[in-house]
Amino acid sequence: MKKSVLILLNYLAFHGFVSYSQETPRCSVPALETQRIKNDRQYLKQKSQFESDLKIYSKLSSKEEIPDSLIVKIPIVVHILYKNETANISDAQINAQIDILNEDFRKKANSKGFNNNSVGGDMKIEFFLAQKDPSGNPTKGITRTAINKVFDITNDISEISQIIRWDENKYLNIWVTSLSGTQLGYGVFPYDSNLEGIESSKARLDAQKNFDGVLIDYRFFGKTVSKNYGFGRTATHEVGHWLGLLHTNADERCGNDFCNDTPEITDLNQASDCNDKFSDCKENGRVTRNMIENYMDYSPDFCMNTFTIDQVKRVRSVLNLSRTRKNIVTQFNTLSEAEKLVSTISPNPVTNKFSVKVLFKGNENLSLTLYNFSGNIIDDKSFSNLRSQEFDYDSSQLQNGIYFMKIQTSKETTIQKILINH
Ligand SMILES: [Zn+2]
Repeated sequence: MKKSVLILLNYLAFHGFVSYSQETPRCSVPALETQRIKNDRQYLKQKSQFESDLKIYSKLSSKEEIPDSLIVKIPIVVHILYKNETANISDAQINAQIDILNEDFRKKANSKGFNNNSVGGDMKIEFFLAQKDPSGNPTKGITRTAINKVFDITNDISEISQIIRWDENKYLNIWVTSLSGTQLGYGVFPYDSNLEGIESSKARLDAQKNFDGVLIDYRFFGKTVSKNYGFGRTATHEVGHWLGLLHTNADERCGNDFCNDTPEITDLNQASDCNDKFSDCKENGRVTRNMIENYMDYSPDFCMNTFTIDQVKRVRSVLNLSRTRKNIVTQFNTLSEAEKLVSTISPNPVTNKFSVKVLFKGNENLSLTLYNFSGNIIDDKSFSNLRSQEFDYDSSQLQNGIYFMKIQTSKETTIQKILINH
């Protein structure tokens, strides 16, 4: 196997075209996790603790809770570590990858990330390239570093994070570089669940020099010429790990990924096609179809379009359980408190989009209702147990005219006039 891969890689380097053999492991989580578990029993304990934390999470409540209904935004910094100009991929290719993440994590209509699956879910997570660097200066959210090295995922993680990394409490770090062997990428699990009485796993992050993010080979980042991995789903898969999702077989035969609506499977899909695959994991010997369209399988990019509702629940739990993930989310999604209900529409007059900033004291049940001049309801949103927030509205389809926004908490109501003028 190794020899044939080397020959294949030589061929690819020569032709400048990537089409990996079907033995390609889609990501390095199993290799790295297995190695680590062998080396570190404590780590294993933390992993199982993390799993049980997730299971009991639904019983807990916190005034800091990020509600599942809220669309959260995560800033990304892409660190390009390039060995040659080919690996120094363009801004356009990076932007294409961000678009793909948003299609897949929002199950966006009319995109490759949409599905009609009865258990298909919307993560309600959006990504954008960071607009401020760690010093507060304007940035494109992209760093570029020339480096004369091809990295090995298994051994070089800590070296990569020492070259460059931004605060993992504020950004999702994605390193894009040349990787050796046939690995496509790697995503770090969020092990810092930080619940009271739960042992912190900071030691693990320290051991890998705070490598907390996602690593992807440049040949599979964004839309690329790769036959099987050209649609940018390596990033979708690895960001899934970064948000706490396991492979759909949990890296063992018929393993439990803690999501009831992903069928148990004997093996991940290593084929180069989207033909149905079946497993016999049920006790009664019944054969069931594998969900090869799940982003957390190993299928080629063009087969994938599904996160399930239980995967959504698991990730949304992680946003509250993991301190680092939660810190990233709340920096943009939690505004300061106000003693009395305060709302601001901007801009006003409005053209194609506007935002409504709503400040209040503590946690509240909140509703926002948009009326046209005749008093008909155009849009209605309601949230429970919410802190001060800002909401984005798309007004591109609304007719010009005067509208009213009623903003209501359990104690107070305010009405704002909005002028839409395209
Ligand atoms: Zn994986």
